[in-house]
Amino acid sequence: MKTLEFIVREISDNQSARYEVSVPPAEIDLELEEAHPVGEIQGQLQLSRRVEDVYVKGSFSTSVEVECRCCVEPFATSISGDIEVQFYPADVTTPSDPWQADTGERYYLGDTIDLSEEVRQSLILEIPSWPLCSETCKGLCPQCGQNLNVAGCDCHISEESSSPFAALADLLDRSDGALKN
Ligand SMILES: [Zn+2]
Ligand SMILES: [Zn+2]
Repeated sequence: MKTLEFIVREISDNQSARYEVSVPPAEIDLELEEAHPVGEIQGQLQLSRRVEDVYVKGSFSTSVEVECRCCVEPFATSISGDIEVQFYPADVTTPSDPWQADTGERYYLGDTIDLSEEVRQSLILEIPSWPLCSETCKGLCPQCGQNLNVAGCDCHISEESSSPFAALADLLDRSDGALKN
């Protein structure tokens, strides 16, 4: 049984149960190409049962290692996500795919509620799409690739390509061509 699976009949009718959970990232398949989980996912959950319907509310947090978009160095960042779902028992009128249901409404089969996919989705949404190791990341030198957060480089001479002399050289090149024609 997975950490995020709960047996409905173990919650008393008309009662709420609270859980503190620690979930191994592999259990909710959080490993992604652009984000690697660091450590377990910590969460608080509240499950409230009314006859066969179960209302679930919870918050989860963990750390993921991502790559800075500016300097390409990996760094860890914390993410947290919330879930709020109403579960109904699956019956003949239930869509065959429980994920076809509207957001916030799910169906469970048998007597087990599995929150793995809910938690996975809530955390994936929080992974930054444009991660930066710091607001002031200097990035890499476009010339030599030096990480400018670590050390400078001597490539600033390349700025001369936009100097007045460069413009003059450009002009001479063009008049040269004009003469040939
Ligand atoms: Zn960076
Ligand atoms: Zn450089």
